[in-house]
Amino acid sequence: MQTNILIIGGGLAGLSLAHLLESKGCDWQLLESRERWGGRILTTIIDGQGFDLGPSWFWPGQPRIDALIKELKLNRFEQTYRGELILQDDTGAIHRGQGIASMQGAWRLKGGMGALIDALVGTLPAARLHPNTTLTTLRDENDSVTAITSSGMQITANKVVLSLPPRIACGLNFSPALSQQCIDASRRIPTWMAGHAKAVATYKTPFWKEAGLSGDAVSRQGPLVEIHDASPDNSGPYALFGFVGTPASHRQNNTKALKLAIKEQLGALFGAQGADPETLLLKDWAFDTRTAMDLDHRALTNHPIYGRPAELQNLWNDRLHFGSTEMGSKFGGFLEGALETAYDLAERVVQDTKNP
Ligand SMILES: Cc1cc2nc3c(=O)[nH]c(=O)nc-3n(C[C@H](O)[C@H](O)[C@H](O)COP(=O)(O)OP(=O)(O)OC[C@H]3O[C@@H](n4cnc5c(N)ncnc54)[C@H](O)[C@@H]3O)c2cc1C
Repeated sequence: MQTNILIIGGGLAGLSLAHLLESKGCDWQLLESRERWGGRILTTIIDGQGFDLGPSWFWPGQPRIDALIKELKLNRFEQTYRGELILQDDTGAIHRGQGIASMQGAWRLKGGMGALIDALVGTLPAARLHPNTTLTTLRDENDSVTAITSSGMQITANKVVLSLPPRIACGLNFSPALSQQCIDASRRIPTWMAGHAKAVATYKTPFWKEAGLSGDAVSRQGPLVEIHDASPDNSGPYALFGFVGTPASHRQNNTKALKLAIKEQLGALFGAQGADPETLLLKDWAFDTRTAMDLDHRALTNHPIYGRPAELQNLWNDRLHFGSTEMGSKFGGFLEGALETAYDLAERVVQDTKNP
């Protein structure tokens, strides 16, 4: 197979780049390793409603995601924050009261973030999309790049964009090998949220709202350390979600024990109904090898400064580009960062292929 621009990775960065290239009438193909689209965006549908196990928020001041949602005729709504919050101290004692609603002002997407991915995929010709296709090797042929997949398929492209976390990308086979500086620079870039685990508990009724609680909770005991309402905008099933605070090295992918501890904690925080969800979903991203590697198991204490380091520029005569959210200099790590990177690359790769 031959193409002008080959995109590797069908997360938001890769799919939105494809969407932009398609609108410019470019020739492109996209390879995605998983059988599903979305990468770190993962939405489970229960009773017709979407529940996010990856990202769920975007914020005012993030122009590209807001514009894309409007373009795709999707709807946003405000994160619920009204009501009292709960603090669980390190002895397990519960304190209830008014406090800062940390997610006040954040927006969620009707249907969950998966609705954005479904809508984006819907704009793209199926013949250019290759799910279940894992890139293993890239070979610089001087005037083109040959990409080889795990099943032996070969694709020749003028440009290749690696829309996957840089730490995962630098583990591919490159011929000639990337410089040690380039590999070191990619490994230094933490994959945003890759070491996290997220739980979503669904319920028939919003019993916490009925009790005057917002659904926000902060716990110094765990296993969930930060909890918020994850209900759809105006109907059930109702839901709470939380980030797991236990470090990945201590979780060891032990889902059963973690789920039991989470139910127990939700009971302690929100009362007996909390301990008895209809469904308890848990996604441990730290042990998903298409997102995280061992290096990501160390918890990040703050949001890293992202952007494209000098070592990841001008690779293979500008035929090879890194292209995940981590390359975004203003919004890197966020959904908006995936779009920031895609918009930037769409300009650059199209410009370059017009003026080789
Ligand atoms: C739990 C969690 C909560 C988050 N919350 C928020 C939030 O509320 N708001 C926000 O803005 N951001 C949030 N984020 C971050 C957000 O999810 C990311 O910014 C965004 O999804 C990254 O998109 P991407 O396309 O750059 O990378 P990814 O989504 O990681 O996509 C990379 C793709 O490459 C594929 N791939 C990997 N290896 C290969 C290979 N060899 N061949 C082919 N394909 C390959 C992967 O399968 C994947 O689909 C959160 C992330 C997580 C995990």
